[in-house]
Amino acid sequence: MPAHTVSIVGAGPVGTLAALYFANEGWKVTLYELRSDPRLQQKGPTASTGKSINLALSHRGIEGLRGASAELAAEILKNVVPVYGRMIHDRHGRQTSQAYDVHGMHINAVDRGWLNGVLLDAAERLENVELRFGHRLVHCDFDRRISKFSTEDGEIEVQSDLVVGADGAHSTVRRQMMRAEPVDFEQKYIDTLWCEISIPPKRITSADGTTTETYALDPNHLHIWPCKTFMLMCLANIGSDKSFTGTLFMPRVSFDDVVYPNDVVDLFNTFFPDVVPLVGEKELCRQFFENPKGTLVSIKCSPYHYLDRCILIGDAAHAMVPFYGQGMNCGFEDVQVLFKHIKETNSLTTALADYTTTRRADLLAISDLAMENYVEMRSSVSSKMYLARKSTEEF
Ligand code: FAD
Repeated sequence: MPAHTVSIVGAGPVGTLAALYFANEGWKVTLYELRSDPRLQQKGPTASTGKSINLALSHRGIEGLRGASAELAAEILKNVVPVYGRMIHDRHGRQTSQAYDVHGMHINAVDRGWLNGVLLDAAERLENVELRFGHRLVHCDFDRRISKFSTEDGEIEVQSDLVVGADGAHSTVRRQMMRAEPVDFEQKYIDTLWCEISIPPKRITSADGTTTETYALDPNHLHIWPCKTFMLMCLANIGSDKSFTGTLFMPRVSFDDVVYPNDVVDLFNTFFPDVVPLVGEKELCRQFFENPKGTLVSIKCSPYHYLDRCILIGDAAHAMVPFYGQGMNCGFEDVQVLFKHIKETNSLTTALADYTTTRRADLLAISDLAMENYVEMRSSVSSKMYLARKSTEEF
């Protein structure tokens, strides 16, 4: 296929990986992102990006990364915490390990900001990739192949053969595509909010007075406190600080019921008693009240493309609830599958149409599995029956 120009909208993990794939195939790539360069921002549990701090990277996502660069995937895998199973915590603080796989297959905890930064660094190193931060897509004229971006200095128009919508769940590219093409679209918010709680490292003071820090829980497990209608889960953070990031998933009304510091302490003492001494009552209350509460949306649409002009990938095409730990992984796989089709034909129109046709069933299935896995995680994991059913492709 002759070299083309592509405007990728959204420099999240999926859009940035797509930039690497397009550049590898000789396309002239411009990656547009509405925010400033995330590599310049400070990270931390209270940063109100609306995104989780860490993520589970699984086989599906790793293969997607390898398709862009085996070296890059290897570099990323040096900076993860392997997670071999779930650790189920009961209301007395007792822990039960459930291995994901008898052969040791595992998922990997990775820092979201770091991962995005490594992908951006890799894209920036390529001659045929240009990164443009502070550019918000506002309009696409697919017939004239022109996209309009709003910047600090006013609006600009750019021309490109293809627009890739990697601009997340509330995608503007998707909205623009829906004006040009009849698109089936379904959006569902679940009645659950999420709030992150950071669990600091445990300090150990030895006989000679030296203090060392270690993980407060086993870092090689995904820890879950299932409570039937809600749950807490946490994953280790890689790096010197040896902290965990916990995520409390709870119905909106239950969050509304927690009004005073005593309510927070009661909630945690009743359902997650072993977390209280690790974080401390005062700090727990501070985090509970100050940290943002995120919503959870599931989005399905079809088709994912418009002629040879536009394609939707990642959350823009299929935002899913996070309980299968596959949103980003699936977005990485989107890029890999898309390029399989692009390489198979000289016609971009055919490649994009084939992508929609073959990808739809898989995306709908994983989205439904993600929804079902919420029940699994907050309830079924604590039943003995569950022990017979295991998978590495879920949390
Ligand atoms: P995003 O990460 O949303 O990036 C989109 C980018 O587009 C953003 O940078 C945004 O600023 C930019 N943008 C938006 N609009 C415009 C515009 N008009 N112009 C220019 N730029 C624009 N997934 C996993 O695989 N594993 C996990 O363990 C996991 N855990 C999760 C936990 C939680 C609590 C949540 C909420 C999600 C989790 N996910 C997980 C899902 C994962 O976060 C998403 O699937 C992933 O971030 C999608 O990446 P993306 O690049 O498609 O979109």
